[in-house]
This record gives sequence, structure tokens and C-alpha cells, in this order.
Amino acid sequence: MTETTKVNLLGLTQPQLEGFFESIGEKRFRAGQVMKWIHHFGVDDFEAMSNIGKALREKLKACAEIRGPEIVSQDISSDGTRKWVVRVASGSCVETVYIPQAGRGTLCVSSQAGCSLDCSFCSTGKQGFNSDLTAAEIIGQVWIANKSFGTVPAKIDRAVTNVVMMGMGEPLLNFDNAVAAMQIMMDDLGYGISKRKVTLSTSGVAPMIDELGKVIDVSLALSLHAPNDTLRDRLVPINRKYPLAVVLDACKRYISRLGEKRVLTVEYTLLKDVNDQPEHAAQMVELLRDVPCKINLIPFNPFPFSGYERPSNNAIRRFQDLLHQAGHNVTVRTTRGEDIDAACGQLVGQVMDRTRRSERHIAVRQLGDEAAPSPSAANRT
Ligand code: SF4
Repeated sequence: MTETTKVNLLGLTQPQLEGFFESIGEKRFRAGQVMKWIHHFGVDDFEAMSNIGKALREKLKACAEIRGPEIVSQDISSDGTRKWVVRVASGSCVETVYIPQAGRGTLCVSSQAGCSLDCSFCSTGKQGFNSDLTAAEIIGQVWIANKSFGTVPAKIDRAVTNVVMMGMGEPLLNFDNAVAAMQIMMDDLGYGISKRKVTLSTSGVAPMIDELGKVIDVSLALSLHAPNDTLRDRLVPINRKYPLAVVLDACKRYISRLGEKRVLTVEYTLLKDVNDQPEHAAQMVELLRDVPCKINLIPFNPFPFSGYERPSNNAIRRFQDLLHQAGHNVTVRTTRGEDIDAACGQLVGQVMDRTRRSERHIAVRQLGDEAAPSPSAANRT
């Protein structure tokens, strides 16, 4: 058997791993043992699995592997924020950002290298689509992040307590792999993260929101960015296919399935003189009138040739106040981590051409709720 035919166990869910062990003539319970070694202890060498006999270890070495994406670089900010550039099998690079805050650590995970959706304010979108990440490459980002803090037994002071699928790419367009990775995140044999603390962010792929609701109950965030179809058609082109009414209906269906007073997170990047005016706030209030939600405002983080500007602090405050006055729970994302580069909306450009970097900010929203709002930097939401 050659290297290329080995099964990468890193990206297998528990049922898939049980199926794998059955397929090689072994007991299904081996799956639990191996998952713990992989995800609880960060092991990638079968030889280290001391509760597995030598014969099985040899068998596994012959037909399987545990392989995360290749780490190209790791930066640690003076404020504790960490950023990894990792190379995936397609040869593309993606980035992962870890944001530590009091009592929690949130990891922003990428699901695709590049993105096909071309949101007009997003640098990742401007790079175009390169490849889907495999489930192993998605969960591998969590694996790498936790490993960077050393070996930690299950559920004891894990570094990553929250995950937001808000890095590069549209996770609902890489559905199966994103779902598998999130299942491993939530599995006690994986990372044991609460369903409330795993958040998938979508630009509004309405049919897949319904599909998501059939298979998983993670928290949901919608990248709204415009309060009417005319403007959203321009800023978030997928809106031409799935307009606001269709997307919000799908979000409401998803949220209502979750029950337990869970709400939609609405992401809204504020662009100076484009979507930051009082009439936009008024339209947003009307649009979200019957949507259980909280709103995260994201002041635009400029990048070269974007054509957009960040609104003034006064304009940001005015917009927030108007939403507050209408009874919405609104947070404004803050920036931090000036000593490393981690702007997700600008990630591909930075990886491809570091000389073009003009911004050195990690932007994180204020994390004041339990649904793990995005730390994803800049303008990728
Ligand atoms: S904002 Fe998200 S969906 Fe839009 S282009 Fe960027 S990565 Fe893709």
C-alpha cells in the first residue's frame, strides 16, 4: 500500500472511524481509543498509542495516517492572539486565528482556500476560489491550535473553547467536510465543545441552511452587510440568487429548530457612506423585526484597492445607537493584536504577497455572549 492510499484518520467522525476499524477487521471500540489519542492528546504517531497492541499499531501504520495541514508559520501576538498559516493538499494556504479572552479561547477556522462568492468588500473573495478543505484540514486547524498549547487531557482547560467557521471560504459550499469537522469539534471523543460554542457563518446559501438544520445544531451567523436587496446584490452577490426574504426565512427555520432561546447572529460590516447611514439602520430594524437575533457591527478594515473606507467612530456609534433604541442587542467589534497579521478578510492576499500588507490588526468583536461571536478579523464574516 502506498503513502497516498493511506486513510487520514484526523478528519473521520466517530461513526466513520468505527466503520474504518470494521473495514480492517477490528473492533469498533478502537475508534474511541484512537480519537482520544488524536484529539485529546494531539498524537500523530500510532507508536505513542500505548493502549493499542503492537500488532494493531503496525497494521494502522500500514494503512492509515494522522496528518494535519502543514504549518507554514505561526505568530503569537503580545496580547496572546495566535495566527497560523497552513498549507493544504491543493498547495494553497489558509489562515487560522486564535483569540484568547477571559475564560475562553475562540478559534476562527477556514473552510475553503479562497472563495467563489466575491463579496465586494472581502479580500479573500477577490482571490477567487482555490479549493475546498477536507474535513481533516478543517479539524486540523483546531488540532494544531490545541497542540500549540501542549498536551491537554480531555475537557481540562482546553485552549480552544469556541470555534467560529468564519475564516476563509463559505462553509455551506463545502458542506460535508464542514459538517464532519464540526461534529468532531462537538464530540466528547473529539474536542467536546458545546453546540452553542460552535458557530457557522454563512453569506446566505439558503437551501444549505435548511440542509444544515437536518444534520447539526450549531449556532448560526448570517453575513448580512446590507439591509435591502438592491444594496446587498452589490455587496454580497449571492444575494441575487437567494434574496434577503429567502435567506432570512431559512435562518428563522434553522433557529426555530434549535429552540432553547437561541438566536441568529447577524454580521454587518460598516462601510463608510455605503451602508452606515441612519436609513440603513432603520431598514435593518424593519428587516429583522421578527428575527430572533443579536447584531455584530464590524467597522470595515481597509485593504489596498478595496474601494471602501471605514466609517468614523461617530457614524459607528450612531448606527449602533439606532439599533439599540429599537431594542436590539448590538456589539461593535474591536481591534487588537497589532504585532502580527491575522486579518481573515485579507488573508489570501497576505499569504500570496506579504509586501502588500497595509494593516496589522486582528479585529475581534467583543465577546459578551455564549454563542462565540466571530473573532475573524477584518471583513470576512
Ligand atoms: S465575505 Fe465570506 S462569502 Fe464573501 S467572499 Fe469573503 S469569504 Fe467568501
